[in-house]
Order: sequence, then structure tokens, then C-alpha cells
Amino acid sequence: MSSNNTGLTRPTVYQFAFGKAIITNILEGYFHRNDMHPFIATNADASTVEDLAHAHHLPFPAMEHNFVATVIRTPDKLIVVDPGFGAAAPAPSTGWFMKGLQKAGYSKDDVDMVLISHCHPDHIGNVATDGVATFPNAEIVIGRTEFEFWKRGEGISEMRQPTLALFQKTLLPLENQLRLIEPTDEILPGLHPINAFGHSAGHLVFRLSSGGKQMLLLNDTTPHYVASFAHPEWHFSMDDDPQAAAATRQRILDMAAEESLPVIGYHIPFPSLGFVKSRQQGFEFVPASYQFQLT
Ligand SMILES: [Zn+2]
Repeated sequence: MSSNNTGLTRPTVYQFAFGKAIITNILEGYFHRNDMHPFIATNADASTVEDLAHAHHLPFPAMEHNFVATVIRTPDKLIVVDPGFGAAAPAPSTGWFMKGLQKAGYSKDDVDMVLISHCHPDHIGNVATDGVATFPNAEIVIGRTEFEFWKRGEGISEMRQPTLALFQKTLLPLENQLRLIEPTDEILPGLHPINAFGHSAGHLVFRLSSGGKQMLLLNDTTPHYVASFAHPEWHFSMDDDPQAAAATRQRILDMAAEESLPVIGYHIPFPSLGFVKSRQQGFEFVPASYQFQLT
């Protein structure tokens, strides 16, 4: 994994109105990798992945993996969803969330809620440092299944041992301050979790409703904006349960396509906003252009 070009200017904050909410996507950072295969498809041939990449004018095997956090300003709450690596940032091309938050005009004290989709490092690293919560006034909300899986700490793969260690350092000390939710709960009026288990034991997708509009935060359901849509059946190497993750990907993308829901994906290239179109086989991600600036 390399991470170059950090000196070049690129957009890191994207804001739009959605119903009665203001949504801000913030580029937490990126990795440049040299392993598109098998990184995004452990159960496909390298040549099939290469063909797909070239058909979309993408190089192979080089790829960029983005990390994009979302901030939701409702009329009465400021909610931060998966605020990145924080002090656990593994490279200079990551750990940009706090700078982006400031650019968007918010301070860490303004945040009322930190909402966590799952406990992988790019999603929980910035929740706390050395047992001190990053956002001092925020309620921290996370799925009960996900939290309890890492708390038990059983059957964790070798690859995920650093994730377990980070969880124990970051989230576990805050246990008494957490609000643990079920996929059937309401997080707050207009914000609901959806069971998207597979990428991790209790991974959640979020559905936001505001002013008669709805959208989905896919979080880590779609790790690659071409491959995960064209081939939801492909196993992402970071999926903790690849079979369950593939079934979830199919179900969530079906839902987004059928309802024409705008989607935001944590690993979709910045600004990570678009729509899901059904194809004869699989799906296609249609990036947003100006439509969200016209409202
Ligand atoms: Zn992730």
C-alpha cells in the first residue's frame, strides 16, 4: 500500500441540502493500493477484474480506496457518521476528518451524536483517543450485535486482531456511555438503521428521511464503485463474512434501485453520492452531478 500525492489539492468537503437536512461529506483520506485483485474480489479471476477495470477507464491493479465520512445537520441535531481513523490514522493521506469538519463550519463541541456503522478502524478510530471521547457532547450510537461481537472477542481472524485491539482501546472503555441499538430501532425521528450484517458481524446501513425525501448511507456495503455494483456476488477481502456480505449487498442495492434512493458510500470515490441503477446482471453506480445543488 502506498499513499502519494498528498501535496496535490483535491476537494475534501462537499455539502448539499436534503429535505430539511444539510449533508456534508468529508474526505477522511485515501489509500493508493496495488492490488485491486484480490482486494475487491477474492472469488473472481484477476483477468475478469482487470477487464472490468479497463472497461471503466480504470487502471489495474492500481486503485484508490477512499474513506468518506458523513455529517448530517437536522433542524435540531448534528450527527457525525463514522468519523474516520483519528489518532489511528495509518498514513499522511488519512486522518483528515477534523480538518474537514472545521472547513464545513462545525467544531467537535457542536456534535450531538456519533453514529457508528461498524467497528473497523477507519470507522471507529476517531471516536476516542486514550479513553477520551473526541466529541465531548455527543451521544455515541452503535449496533448492539456489532458491539457485543467485538466485546466477546471470540473467533476473530488473524487479519482482524489489530481491529480488536483498537476496539478495546477506543470503544470498550466508553461502554457505559454508548447507546446500543437494534436494526429495528429508530435512531431519532427520520433516521433508521437497516440490518446489513456480513461486512462485519453487525454492520448497519442507515436510512435518512427528511422533508419527504429519503436516502441510504450504504457505509461499507459497496467497497468499490464499479466492482461491488456490477458484481455484488464478488467477495471483498475485508468482509468478515463474505457470503453474508454478498447477500446483503444484493438486498440493499435492490432496495436502493427499486426506490430510486440517493446513496452515499463510505468507500465510493469522493464526493461519494449517487444512485443505483439495476442492470440485466448486477447494478451500476450513477454518480450525482448538479441535481443536489438545485434544491
Ligand atoms: Zn471501511
